Amino acid sequence: MFLFNRFHSPVSVLKRAGAKEIPIDSSYIAWWNRGSACIGIHAPYDQRLRYFVGNLVPKTWGAEPHGDYLAYTNLPDHEILFAPGFEMDSTIVVHEQIHDYLKLGGHPQKYFGDSIAIHCGIRPGHD
Ligand SMILES: [Zn+2]
Repeated sequence: MFLFNRFHSPVSVLKRAGAKEIPIDSSYIAWWNRGSACIGIHAPYDQRLRYFVGNLVPKTWGAEPHGDYLAYTNLPDHEILFAPGFEMDSTIVVHEQIHDYLKLGGHPQKYFGDSIAIHCGIRPGHD
């Protein structure tokens, strides 16, 4: 359970990990609208999402912090962190947006399976 306290600042956690926030590119909204509809999610773009680029996933996110990754989503705070160079890869952007929408770290094959994901321009995922 998360309790708000004034010392909790998810953005400063990212800043300590060396990440930089990037502006929301209008492409991100277009990619969500196209990709989510294609896999059967009919929901508007989530305006709470914020995007960052950085080399390290903050340890407090509970991920394997130093493994190879292309992007990672912090579900409680609606933050997506891209490894440098992957922030304009539409297949990865939508993949992470779907994680945020589903509030799931895993990869249900209904959305992330090879055939549906590739057909819809989304990076497939496997658990
Ligand atoms: Zn994934």
